[in-house]
Amino acid sequence: MLIKTTELSAPKISCTTCQACCCRLEVMLISETGVPAKYIKTDKWGGEVMDRLADGWCAALDRETLRCTIYAVRPLICREFAVGSHECITERKEMQ
Ligand code: SF4
Ligand code: SF4
Repeated sequence: MLIKTTELSAPKISCTTCQACCCRLEVMLISETGVPAKYIKTDKWGGEVMDRLADGWCAALDRETLRCTIYAVRPLICREFAVGSHECITERKEMQ
């Protein structure tokens, strides 16, 4: 079986080896998914975004486990943020 050299050398990207880098980004709420009101903030333009705490991470992130505490009702943008995507890799690099 042929194995591409990129498969041999590329490190496997996984959320379990990440400091929840994408959960420091601004997350706009563009649809209703059931996010609890206590995690929602209104930005200066009147739009709804996920609140972020002083440490920079989303208010809904469990600081101990680095897992989303509202996973089942997380915003659409969070659902569409793909592990291994260009954005994911960029955020991971910026946190190193
Ligand atoms: S999607 Fe990417 S940036 Fe977000 S937690 Fe997973 S590995 Fe980290
Ligand atoms: S809602 Fe969950 S997945 Fe989305 S940024 Fe917050 S902690 Fe991360």
